Amino acid sequence: MVYIGIDLGGTNIAVGIVDENGQILCKGSTPTLLPRPYGPIIADIAKCSLETLERSGHTLDDVAAIGAGVPGILDPRTGIIPFCTNLGWHDVPFITELQKYIDKPVYVGNDATVAGLAESVAGVSAGAHSSVFLTLGTGVGGGIVIDGKAYSGAHGVGSEIGHMIIELDGEECTCGNYGCFERYASATAIIREGRKAYAQHPDSLIGQLCGGDPDKITAKTIFDAAKESDPTAVKVFRRYVRALAHGIVTIINVLDPEIIALGGGVSLAGDFLLQAVREAVKPLVFFKTMPYARIELAKLGPDAGIIGAAMLGK
Ligand SMILES: [Zn+2]
Repeated sequence: MVYIGIDLGGTNIAVGIVDENGQILCKGSTPTLLPRPYGPIIADIAKCSLETLERSGHTLDDVAAIGAGVPGILDPRTGIIPFCTNLGWHDVPFITELQKYIDKPVYVGNDATVAGLAESVAGVSAGAHSSVFLTLGTGVGGGIVIDGKAYSGAHGVGSEIGHMIIELDGEECTCGNYGCFERYASATAIIREGRKAYAQHPDSLIGQLCGGDPDKITAKTIFDAAKESDPTAVKVFRRYVRALAHGIVTIINVLDPEIIALGGGVSLAGDFLLQAVREAVKPLVFFKTMPYARIELAKLGPDAGIIGAAMLGK
């Protein structure tokens, strides 16, 4: 049997035909074309899925289930997506709408949860009993997998690791609260702090790397300057790593997973980031003499969305 995996983003919708082992057999994509109502978007998802299925050499008889990763949540009581902020969706009956075109079981998960599931099937956490995946991007997403299953809580609203509050009266978050983990551990946080630091130290290497234009500072700018031991960038980098380590230690203290996988754009900093995070976590762990979660880089990259979505139905 095969599974259809759908990664629904604000710009693009990626579709894949995935086998039992989480390997992608064939891929397709279609633009999301926001803003437009959910009806035509879901019609396009179905069309793209069926076209991709045909190209893979399979038919609907071979399809066990369809899974979709969405930038939001599904209400497990109703099967309705109550909201997807960046799609402008409110109360979208995604499952029944998609089943108008393809009569198969449909499963929906949060995009970070789904990426975590993918890593646990075919990526860095394969074979682990429990894992937590963190996407470090514009925000911070979290995916918790326990006993091979994506865990999003009793009401479908769990695993929002980016919104753990780690600082009282801290930075304002897009969720309306203050001091959320993602305000300190996302690419957005590195850029914000990098710009501040550059304004205070215009002679920093950060200035050379961004051509003197603070709007061009990215997370990579800061990492690159820190790798060259630029003191201003090193300070921003160390502060970032400390914030990330505090969130990771909280996850370890609460869940004690086997693996914590770091993904998303920031994780492209690779070993430079990984080694620093491992060092920063070590002294913060509660049970000093006990083993604790291995911290690793995610493996699957952008395909994780398709693979994990497909695996929701497995
Ligand atoms: Zn928040």
